[in-house]
Amino acid sequence: MHIKDVLAEAERTGEPSFSFEYFPPKTAQGVQNLYDRMERMYNFGPKFIDITWGAGGRVAELTCEMVVQAQTYLGLEACMHLTCTDMGEERVNDALRKAYKAGCTNILALRGDPPRDKEKWEATEGGFRYARDLVAHIRKTYGNHFDIGVAGYPEGCDDNQDEDLLLDHLKEKVDMGASFIVTQMFYDVDNFLRWVGRVRERGITVPIVPGIMPIATYASFLRRANHMKCKIPDDWLAKLEPVKNDDVAVRDIGKTLVADMCRKILAAGIRHLHFYTMNLAQATRMVLEELDWLPSPDRPLKQALPWKQSLGFG
Ligand code: FAD
Repeated sequence: MHIKDVLAEAERTGEPSFSFEYFPPKTAQGVQNLYDRMERMYNFGPKFIDITWGAGGRVAELTCEMVVQAQTYLGLEACMHLTCTDMGEERVNDALRKAYKAGCTNILALRGDPPRDKEKWEATEGGFRYARDLVAHIRKTYGNHFDIGVAGYPEGCDDNQDEDLLLDHLKEKVDMGASFIVTQMFYDVDNFLRWVGRVRERGITVPIVPGIMPIATYASFLRRANHMKCKIPDDWLAKLEPVKNDDVAVRDIGKTLVADMCRKILAAGIRHLHFYTMNLAQATRMVLEELDWLPSPDRPLKQALPWKQSLGFG
């Protein structure tokens, strides 16, 4: 199923929906643990999951493997991230072929970050320079088989803080054939909603999916927010700082803050939220519980791909 159809369905019914993001773990044991967790989190009811792309041979292969596993055995609709970092056209095509063969129909097309040993991003010879080039390539090669998403930055991106320029480039990505936008994490909802208004003013009409980062510990909350240069509202710090050494209290307060933020986004008419799980279940589950979005006897799980039950995973 295409993500644009999932988003249109949420829009049409008004029923909120959500998705989860995972990244490829570093060790074989980590991968197995994550598959187990993904299967458990399947029961939370995500409409789809994303698997991030890590530049470099083994990690990139693992992204493809995880997409196959999710799509074929876990009954989860997958969206594969794909970046142009360190990737010539042939390697991009190889990754797309694997996704296609696994039955995957959704790609988040990205430029990617610079490799760890480099400060500045450089295009690979015979590769693509910007995400828009990757979007155009996927459309040209696969027509409408893949639904294509792209990244959006309500608070600027690492190598560009110029909002007008970023909006121009976002428009180019959509004009090349992207049909949805997933945002970088943020905690300042008022700024996010202002940015959505500016996106719309530019004539970009595709759905915008906000990226939500639940709070697991105070240290990881600060580290990620600072890494992404994302603004933390003063009242969040005032509530979390006094309990910073008590992880249980941080998660408890954090879930209320994040759930309130989700409610405000929903009230503005956005119906689908994307959770950055960081491969962990607890903090995301607590937010979903707080929102009363977990499946229940009155609201049974609905999103299973048809073959999951028949493979005995149901
Ligand atoms: P682009 O849209 O290509 O933009 C990159 C830079 O080039 C920007 O400064 C932009 O303004 C500029 N630019 C774009 N077009 C033009 C043009 N025509 N002329 C001049 N300048 C231009 N990284 C990973 O490595 N793996 C992942 O799985 C991953 N997933 C992500 C998921 C989300 C939702 C988000 C928000 C980010 C993700 N990233 C991931 C990080 C992302 O790769 C970086 O933020 C990267 O620096 C920018 O990628 P982009 O696709 O936004 O690039």
